[in-house]
Amino acid sequence: MEQIVEYLSQAKIAERVQELGAQIGRDYKDRRLVVVIVLKGSFVFAADLVRAIEIPHMRIDFLGVRSYGEGTESTGVVQITNDLSKPIEEEDVLLVEDIVDTGLTISYLLDLLHTRKPRTLKVCSLLHKPARARIQVPIEYLGFTIEDKFVIGYGLDFAEKYRNLPFLGVLQRAEG
Ligand code: 5GP
Repeated sequence: MEQIVEYLSQAKIAERVQELGAQIGRDYKDRRLVVVIVLKGSFVFAADLVRAIEIPHMRIDFLGVRSYGEGTESTGVVQITNDLSKPIEEEDVLLVEDIVDTGLTISYLLDLLHTRKPRTLKVCSLLHKPARARIQVPIEYLGFTIEDKFVIGYGLDFAEKYRNLPFLGVLQRAEG
């Protein structure tokens, strides 16, 4: 039996997302921003984040990525399941991730997107688990640093389940 224990409440997440959005809005004021949403895990976070960024010139694109199988360990292998719909050459690009764990996924994506010659390329991640970092990656906009726990909800899954939870939780195995 699995039990879900709340880790970060809906209210706490919402407050932090508003702060991040306001900060990004100030930093990209008068610029044309391309927000690249990394699917699937960051779709809920990104939906809230983009609505908290008050700039007139924003374009949104999606990058589909598969880095895990059904398990919880990074394989280090990143597969692009859906590429960007338009070039990003000379654009200001913000890559939006759900969580930076080992860092392998974001590092791969940064290398990939750099080859397309954006004007600037920055990272916004809701969560960071520094305990498991295998490669250091810059995260210009970070929601929360978390402990070494496998979190679910608010877009994050376990074997494709729990993405629809409105808060972030951890799974605990109930005895019996
Ligand atoms: P990394 O390559 O940094 O190890 O892993 C990044 C990806 O692994 C994330 O985008 C996410 O899909 C998945 N991931 C890493 N840690 C967690 C976690 O605690 N919970 C869930 N649901 N996914 C995770």
